[in-house]
Amino acid sequence: MNSFTPQHRYYSLDTYLKKRFGTKVFKIPLNAGFTCPNRDGTLSNQGCFFCSAMGSGEYAGNPDESLEKQFYKIKNKMHEKWPEGKYIIYFQANTNTYAPLNQLQELYQAAISLDPNIVALSIATRCDAICDDTLEYLAALNKRIPVWLEIGLQSKHEETMKRLNLGYTLAAFQTAIRKIQQKKIETVVHIINGLPGETKEMMIETARFLNTQNIQGVKIHSLYLVKGSVLGETFIKQPFPLLTLSKYVEIVAEQLAILQPDIVIHRINGDPPRDLFIAPQWTLKKFVIMNEIDKKMRQLNYVQGCKYNNKAFH
Ligand code: SF4
Repeated sequence: MNSFTPQHRYYSLDTYLKKRFGTKVFKIPLNAGFTCPNRDGTLSNQGCFFCSAMGSGEYAGNPDESLEKQFYKIKNKMHEKWPEGKYIIYFQANTNTYAPLNQLQELYQAAISLDPNIVALSIATRCDAICDDTLEYLAALNKRIPVWLEIGLQSKHEETMKRLNLGYTLAAFQTAIRKIQQKKIETVVHIINGLPGETKEMMIETARFLNTQNIQGVKIHSLYLVKGSVLGETFIKQPFPLLTLSKYVEIVAEQLAILQPDIVIHRINGDPPRDLFIAPQWTLKKFVIMNEIDKKMRQLNYVQGCKYNNKAFH
C-alpha cells in the first residue's frame, strides 16, 4: 500500500478522505453544549490540566445557536474557499457522548439529517464516557453512515495521566478501545507531545503503544498553554520549559516512522485559540510546523511505518 503523497510522507487525512469519498470533504464542527465529567464535579472540577475552563473544542460553533444555524454558517464559509465538497459532522467541544441515550439519539439524528451531502459523523469523547447502550446505538448508526469516535489518550504513561488529572487509567482506555473495535467503529486517538515530565522516549513509546490498539486514526498535538487551564495559570506565575519547534519536529518524525502505515494521521499539530493563548509561540504557526515535519521526514528518508516492527526503510 502506498497512500503517501509527494507532499507528505505520511497517510494524511486529506488523502484518506479523497480515497474514501472521492471528493474534498470538510469537517463541520458543531457545539451541542455538552459538559465534561472531568469538569462538572463528577470526576473533578479542574479538568485535564491543559484544558481551558471554557472546555475543549474552541473552534466548535456557538451552543446558543441551533445546530442548523451553526452548520450553515460554517458550511457557507468553507464553500467560499472550496466550491465543491461533502461534509463530516464533528461534535468537537467537550465530551459529546455525555448525556442520556435518548438525547444523544435525537441529537445525532438531527445532525446527520441537516444535509444530503453529510458523509460521516465524528464524535469526540472520553474513554470513560461511552455507555454500552450508547455504543450499541452507535454501532447500528454506523451501518447507515460512517461513525468515527475520537478518544483522548494524550499519553500512555500512568504517571503523566495522574499528574495532569486526566481522570482515567490506561486500562480504562484499552477496555473502551477494545469494545469500540468489536463494534467496528472507526477510532481516532488523540495524543499530546510536550506534556510536563515526559521525555522524547516516553512520547515515542506512546506512539508505539497505539500500534497495539487496532485503531484507524491518530491526532498528534503539541502542548500549548491557554488561559483558564491549570498548566497555563501555573506557567504565568512560574514559567517552566516547553518543547521547542525543532524538538517537536524531531519527535513527530520518529512517531510517524513507528506508526503503522495504514493509520490515518488526522493532525500533526495543535490549533491554539488565539484569544486564550499563552505559549509557546511556534505552536501558532501551523503551516511552518507541517512544512518542517515534511522536511525532516525527507532529510531522514522516513515514511510513515518505516520503523514499524523495526523494519528498515529502503
Ligand atoms: S480535555 Fe476533554 S476530557 Fe479533559 S477536561 Fe477538557 S473537555 Fe474534559
